[in-house]
Amino acid sequence: MTKHVPISFEFFPPKTDAGAEKLRLVHQELQQLNPEFFSITYGAGGSTRERTLAAIADFNGKGTPVTPHLSCIGDDKNRIAELLDLYKSQGIDRIVALRGDLPSGQVGLGELPYAQDLVRFIREHSGNYFHIEVAAYPEMHPQAENFDTDIKRFVEKAQAGANAAITQFFFNPDAYFYFIERLQKEGVDIPVAPGIMPITNANNLIRFADGTGADVPRWIRKQLQGYGDDSKSIQAFGHEVVVKLCERLIAGGAPSLHFYTMNTTDPTRKLVKDLGLA
Ligand code: FAD
Repeated sequence: MTKHVPISFEFFPPKTDAGAEKLRLVHQELQQLNPEFFSITYGAGGSTRERTLAAIADFNGKGTPVTPHLSCIGDDKNRIAELLDLYKSQGIDRIVALRGDLPSGQVGLGELPYAQDLVRFIREHSGNYFHIEVAAYPEMHPQAENFDTDIKRFVEKAQAGANAAITQFFFNPDAYFYFIERLQKEGVDIPVAPGIMPITNANNLIRFADGTGADVPRWIRKQLQGYGDDSKSIQAFGHEVVVKLCERLIAGGAPSLHFYTMNTTDPTRKLVKDLGLA
């Protein structure tokens, strides 16, 4: 039997009223699984500021705590401070602090070019009020010079005051275990929650993976390609792969799991139920 670990769910802010209505239902359904928090992403340079705030307003105070993501690249300290103060006034005390990726065409890095600068700024501005999560990349951030430098940068985020981390999605548990081992050697022991991406659609998965530098191992790609348009088989195979991944991660000591829900209920709910984590 799988050991019980806490779970959390990620949403992105919907673009339309219909999307917002659907997400309210997804939120209600996933809330029944008793997550530790829901997180809401934030477009770099403030590009989803209003939509992120609208989603936060929808879910804050409705049971499970809500956790805004906050990115710093291309933004300025005043605007970030405003958001921190707003969240604090709303009783929100957990934040996912990120650098973000600038939309193409936008060039200015802003006053806080890297996530460790944002973490430091949050600590300067709000002291220890916020529980700060940062991003982690067991398979290396795609723009990092090399793996060792990327580990060093992660250590800087922890030293700047991050309390915990959530990883980019991955399918190779050994990459996660190696990453944790390297952090331990650096004396960093903040909890690192694996980010779990349900597999439901081969093309989308490969597109996301290519965009984020996550590796979809050949055996998974080949199997997905072999199913062609047979979405039932893709979903059944994807479910089995991700259940086994989560089981290995939990058995190996992962402190919690963070699910990239893609604003839908079923794939995540089925994973959580079959893992016995509801
Ligand atoms: P950083 O930790 O700043 O690292 C970015 C790169 O810079 C790395 O390659 C690092 O090695 C390098 N680096 C760090 N410091 C230095 C330095 N001093 N000099 C040179 N190089 C340096 N994006 C969004 O826009 N909105 C979101 O809501 C969002 N949520 C996310 C949630 C999770 C859990 C994860 C894993 C990612 C999320 N992202 C989001 C994507 C993220 O913003 C991108 O991956 C982005 O490219 C890096 O953000 P970071 O916070 O990891 O950056």
